[in-house]
Amino acid sequence: MTTSPTSRPLAGKTAVITGSTSGIGLAIAHVLAHAGANVMLNGFGSPDDIRKAVSAIKAEGGGRVAYHPADDSNRDAVRDMIATTERELGAAQILVNNVGVQHVEPLETFPDDQWEKIIALNLSSAFYATKAVIPAIKAQKWGRIINIASVHGLIASPFKSAYVAAKHGLVGLTKVTALELAPFGATCNAICPGYVETPLVAHQIPEQAKARGISEAEVREKVFLEHHAIKEFVTTDQLAALALYLCSDMAATLTGVALPVDCGWIAA
Ligand code: NAD
Repeated sequence: MTTSPTSRPLAGKTAVITGSTSGIGLAIAHVLAHAGANVMLNGFGSPDDIRKAVSAIKAEGGGRVAYHPADDSNRDAVRDMIATTERELGAAQILVNNVGVQHVEPLETFPDDQWEKIIALNLSSAFYATKAVIPAIKAQKWGRIINIASVHGLIASPFKSAYVAAKHGLVGLTKVTALELAPFGATCNAICPGYVETPLVAHQIPEQAKARGISEAEVREKVFLEHHAIKEFVTTDQLAALALYLCSDMAATLTGVALPVDCGWIAA
């Protein structure tokens, strides 16, 4: 496919996408690379899977691509990822705080270590990464920060205490970031998906079945799609398309909002 210059609107920009070796983050990495951005990938996986992900993103034909192995629950590792990005790809003006994990269990038995891990990954990592990219955003007077929250950043479901608390916190962080960066040509928004078929959802099936005392088959229909007015899963491509729009100049005045992509869940 021939590529016109305007099809690389993010050429010269650098994006860090946390948790981007899988699912939603990987899809966002593809579209931002295709739009011309340099991309720093991050997340877990076998060396072979990571090599494949890096070369698939490079094949998008945009800018340069690198990988940082930060465990995002470690704030020093998150800071090192932002500093390494600057050395290897140029200072990041686009940050997608996507990393997130889930644990489903009733509150009274919810393990303390799962609470701490979910708050660290789904909320605190976004704080540390955002803090670390702000100097470059201010210097360049342009930036885009996208926080991948969840419909659970806007409403609650039982058995997801840590996740719901972290995602509500991330929506709050989004608003503060938007206000503080508004004078510097930068926006910050949250995307709040309903259920998306990714490994994160697959891992919940046995936990949900156990917590609710139903079969794994019933989890799909009765738990995942129950609240979607449109009885489909959201796709990673749909979310990546929204992230690309949020990075565009057309979204320069869209800031501080939490955008549900939830098949009508919270309209009910
Ligand atoms: P996923 O499990 O497919 O991907 C998670 C990514 O995070 C992977 O790349 C994984 O390697 C990485 N990761 C996990 N622990 C890490 C750590 N300690 N340090 C660094 N990287 C780590 O999940 P997904 O469904 O694509 O979820 C991405 C984001 O979207 C999460 O924040 C999730 O809460 C949110 N979300 C997902 C859904 C859904 O239904 N899948 C719905 C709403 C919101």
